[in-house]
Amino acid sequence: MNITEIFGSLVFGEEVMRARLPKATYAALQKTIARGSHLELDVAHVVADAMKDWALEKGATHFTHWFQPMTGVTAEKHESFVTPVNSGKAIMEFSGTALVRGEPDASSFPSGGLRATFEARGYTAWDPTSYAFIKDRTLCIPTAFCSYSGDALDKKTPLLRSVQAIDKQAMRILKLFGNTGVKRVNVTVGAEQEYFLIDKDMYLKRPDLIYCGRTLFGAEPPKGQELEDHYYGAIKPRVSAFMKELDEELWKLGVCAKIEHNEVAPAQHELAPVFSVANIAADHNQLTMELLRTIADRHNLTCLLHETPFAGISGSGKHINWSLCTDGGVNLLEPDNAYNQAQFLLLLLAVVKAVDEYQDLLRVSVASAGNDHRLGANEAPPAVVSVFLGDELTEVLAAIENNTAYRGREKTFMEIGVSALPHFPKDATDRNRTSPFAFTGNKFEFRMAGSAASVADSCIVINTIAADALREFADTLEKADDFKTALTKLIKATIKKHGRIIWGGNNYSADWEKEAEVRGLLNLRTTVDALPCLIKKKNIELFKRQGVFSESELRSRYEVMLENYCKIVHIEALAMIELIRKELIPAIVAYQNDLVRLIKNKKICGGFASALEEKLLWKLSEVSAVLIDELERSENNINAKNGEMALIDTAGYYRDTVLGNMALLRKTADEAEKMIGRRYLNLPLYGEILYSVN
Ligand code: ADP
Ligand code: MG
Repeated sequence: MNITEIFGSLVFGEEVMRARLPKATYAALQKTIARGSHLELDVAHVVADAMKDWALEKGATHFTHWFQPMTGVTAEKHESFVTPVNSGKAIMEFSGTALVRGEPDASSFPSGGLRATFEARGYTAWDPTSYAFIKDRTLCIPTAFCSYSGDALDKKTPLLRSVQAIDKQAMRILKLFGNTGVKRVNVTVGAEQEYFLIDKDMYLKRPDLIYCGRTLFGAEPPKGQELEDHYYGAIKPRVSAFMKELDEELWKLGVCAKIEHNEVAPAQHELAPVFSVANIAADHNQLTMELLRTIADRHNLTCLLHETPFAGISGSGKHINWSLCTDGGVNLLEPDNAYNQAQFLLLLLAVVKAVDEYQDLLRVSVASAGNDHRLGANEAPPAVVSVFLGDELTEVLAAIENNTAYRGREKTFMEIGVSALPHFPKDATDRNRTSPFAFTGNKFEFRMAGSAASVADSCIVINTIAADALREFADTLEKADDFKTALTKLIKATIKKHGRIIWGGNNYSADWEKEAEVRGLLNLRTTVDALPCLIKKKNIELFKRQGVFSESELRSRYEVMLENYCKIVHIEALAMIELIRKELIPAIVAYQNDLVRLIKNKKICGGFASALEEKLLWKLSEVSAVLIDELERSENNINAKNGEMALIDTAGYYRDTVLGNMALLRKTADEAEKMIGRRYLNLPLYGEILYSVN
């Protein structure tokens, strides 16, 4: 197989366009892409025609607008190219109109009240900055999804808006530093994806995995991850075959999958692509998640993208690596590359300031029922947001703030704009793996997102808050009489004001939680704690100012997320009750029945000792009594009084009462599971699932 040949072979990308489009059309399209403007219909017709021919040659029969509604997954509605003509024959047709605009019936997608069902239609519009591709014999056209009044109903639209916002503000800063050659500042993103891979037969025997993506009870196996023998371990043949096919399919779609390795937990793995611009990275991550699932299936495996499929074992996250890059390809967060190191410091501090001022929004961006089990558990970043800069940079900032010498050198060393920054070592040993927001030498790495999240959610927030910090900086500096003095003052003031968010210690320790409280940092433990922050006045103002969300769009997202939370917990509670009634209780009863019979028979047969059976029966009866009480309590309290409570209170009810009851029930269920014989339980155990793939 020739990798360079297959790479991007299913993408209507740059090269294909240049080869297949008339020169003028190609130029017009490039202009549209660069400017982010609308595509003229006559250009669209020509592009559509070329696209269709290309797709037919590749075996495609259908096309679809591929979009990302607020459900967090992608949506598509396939339409075939076939159009009947008079002679009773058919031709393959695809018009420019069909390329640039679609009108899916949108009434079943969540809109959070943005769109009444009587005006159900939404429309999808091609985003030419993201290339069309072929998946499953279907030409997929990446599109934005809006209501007829123009409100964003998806994740792509606000992401594109946020990219524009940061471009605008970063350009102002670059101009102040005299970088006149730069035309555009792009956001680059690389999303590392963690996932579990288990045997499909095991998966199909666990209704909780099928309905909820996570197990709802199950005792921990004797061997978990304590030996730390899975991390970076040799990849098993079945997994390796899966990864090979996955890589190939991703490459064909232009996704540059680069690194594959085993993760901490048994059956856990990670995939990291080479970074790209934010919009494409978000699309590619969606494709990656989809292919992880479909290709696993071909290998009789199941890929679990839930944040915590197995309690007590490391969960899965998504690390969002983020940086800023000029159109000329210069990474602006690379200290060695920066045109000017003071500029690097200022950009870095803009992010520090942004993270401090909008800790709440970052937390909201990763809030979900699934991720609540992960954040704050001891292997994931805590719910407290902080920034890690590494010893070197932290010392540099301290030296600047206090006007002191940096590492014993002369005092003048850190005079901004004059002296060079020291070289920052980028070796891995210096990295703090526990930090939720870490500077890793030439980019930031945001580690709070859950494995199933859309990259767009976090990226929208990081882009917007950084854009706003840059805006403030630019406002101050643009009106300064003396740039250098103003810059020094600004940098010092920013370090002083926002230094509290910088933390280099162990983020998993209980001490940090206390220290964070002393520093006044937020600790929004659950989704229900976090979500109301989305519609705080300061945040509504921020998104409006940056043109990323209108107030109604923001409120709709708040509703969608809250509703989603309630629905997920509700489904989990129902699934748990069903599973316990249909599987666990019958197993317990059967085991007890055997014990009773044996005890009886032993007595009849002449009074054999039955201490073992009696003890087992006694204990199991005790646990069963608790189990049924807890089960009934869960059943009786599963419904919040719908319609009588505000949505946020309903969500609070699900968190406190429903999840609370489920936690108690689970503890008892796990205890009972441990007590009964293996053959009584008709479900694979944790250990069996986790070690099912060889
Ligand atoms: P680690 O596991 O140590 O965090 P990896 O090498 O697994 O590191 O992943 C690093 C990720 O960061 C990759 O997806 C990579 O493409 C991405 N990355 C590297 N440089 C940049 C950058 N300038 N902007 C955005 N992402 C980047
Ligand atoms: Mg990482």
